[in-house]
Amino acid sequence: MKSTLDGKVCIVTGAASGIGKRIAEVYAQAGGKVVIADLNLDAATAVAKELTDAGGQAMAVAMDVTDEQQVIDGVAKVVAQYGQVDVLVSNAGIQIINKVTDFTLTDWRKLIAIHLDGAFLTTRECMRDMEKRKAPGAIIYMGSVHSHEASKLKSAYVAAKHGLLGLARTVAKEGAEFGIRANVICPGFVRTPLVDKQIPEQAKELGISEDDVVKKVMLKDTVDGEFTTVDDVANLALFLAAFETNALTGQSIDISHGWMML
Ligand code: NAD
Repeated sequence: MKSTLDGKVCIVTGAASGIGKRIAEVYAQAGGKVVIADLNLDAATAVAKELTDAGGQAMAVAMDVTDEQQVIDGVAKVVAQYGQVDVLVSNAGIQIINKVTDFTLTDWRKLIAIHLDGAFLTTRECMRDMEKRKAPGAIIYMGSVHSHEASKLKSAYVAAKHGLLGLARTVAKEGAEFGIRANVICPGFVRTPLVDKQIPEQAKELGISEDDVVKKVMLKDTVDGEFTTVDDVANLALFLAAFETNALTGQSIDISHGWMML
């Protein structure tokens, strides 16, 4: 199997930071034409510049994945610039922690919209391009161990990440005749801004120290007490993007230092 992307056009949402940013870097190093699609255009532009300065091909696109028109326009801009879309990594996400009984409907809708509306809208637009060209492609969703497991305080996140499994499995069935594969990456905890923000919040909610949040909550069920890294996740995202047949589709792969074993 080739582990290169050979000019494949890869849209990565939420690629201005954290996991998405590292995936964009690894894809560019593997020869992909990488689209940094993010709410934060300044940060996305800075990432695209870093990649082009390093000899890669990249462009930034302003995209709020919850906004239908911005997704339609963003994907159209990519097709106008690069001619097609071969790989989508639906990665943009947020976390909001609260007990179910304290969760507001506004927060619930905000989180569900980013994770699920965003995954649906970007999938629809990218699949439309792939199907129109009768071309194969890879659609990768950023799930979580929380696609398979629940944790206290994370009702909306757990519901959204479980929901991605259903979307991926449906896309795998509908996309098969075109060679469009859909899979879900399910990381354990990765030190990114999303997690760094949660540590003091969980310490406060649970009434324990930040050190205990890391050791006794986040990494408690791993085999070795280690965080998963952005490199680990990006390497799996490269493997899935480069994999060429329908043999690997409709799957969810946990990458979590053994926190989740399926
Ligand atoms: P991060 O906060 O570092 O990056 C998230 C990015 O998404 C940011 O650049 C942000 O601007 C962008 N974004 C937020 N809302 C958006 C919107 N509406 N439209 C477009 N872009 C938007 O977070 P991260 O840790 O890199 O998380 C990336 C993904 O990985 C998320 O889906 C998250 O749920 C998932 N994940 C993270 C971890 C972890 O431990 N960090 C574990 C499992 C899964």
